[in-house]
Amino acid sequence: MLDQIRTCLRSALSALSGTPRVLRVATAKLPTDYGEFDVHIYENPADLQTHVALVRGDISSGNDVLARMHSACLTGDVFHSIRCDCGPQLQTAMRRVADEGRGVIVYLNQEGRGIGLANKIRAYTLQDEGYDTVEANERLGFPADSRDYGIGVQIFRDLGVRSVRLLTNNPRKSAGVTGDGLSVSERVPIEIPPSDSTRRYLKTKKDKLGHELTSV
Ligand SMILES: [Zn+2]
Repeated sequence: MLDQIRTCLRSALSALSGTPRVLRVATAKLPTDYGEFDVHIYENPADLQTHVALVRGDISSGNDVLARMHSACLTGDVFHSIRCDCGPQLQTAMRRVADEGRGVIVYLNQEGRGIGLANKIRAYTLQDEGYDTVEANERLGFPADSRDYGIGVQIFRDLGVRSVRLLTNNPRKSAGVTGDGLSVSERVPIEIPPSDSTRRYLKTKKDKLGHELTSV
């Protein structure tokens, strides 16, 4: 009950103050296979969705922070699906940040390039019928990529980050992450070698979504 009242108050406050901003609502230590991170939970008052930031080391200078902005992929991140390269990308990002001893991983609750879990699975059915990942989304009535990085930018800013060395193969993401006092000082490739099951998916990402992939 208290939580609900708190949530209502927060939503009302952000409505009064204009554009809703994400709010940091919980923080703890999170020991992982890659060592210990600080985990911060953020809530978007506009839709009550929660997002996560994993922080390693001292990022207080705010500059040139090694960072990954990762959109949730339940099938890849949790179930180790090999239809996509999301799981290995997340693990590689955590390892790279751990190796460097300093960095941030923002984990955005926007499944299936923003179309939600059920639609992503519907898109998989279409892919099994021969459509590629972009065509499948379009047949379901969605753009190829519905992701919004604005929430992620707000999270970086809340953590005091001003510039990032962004772990991504997607030059468009660098553009999406720029603004609101945040800039991308470098794009750091995070290429996962293709397998038989991901080669076509990665080729579509390269050809239709502009990802810079050298191995397909
Ligand atoms: Zn995925």
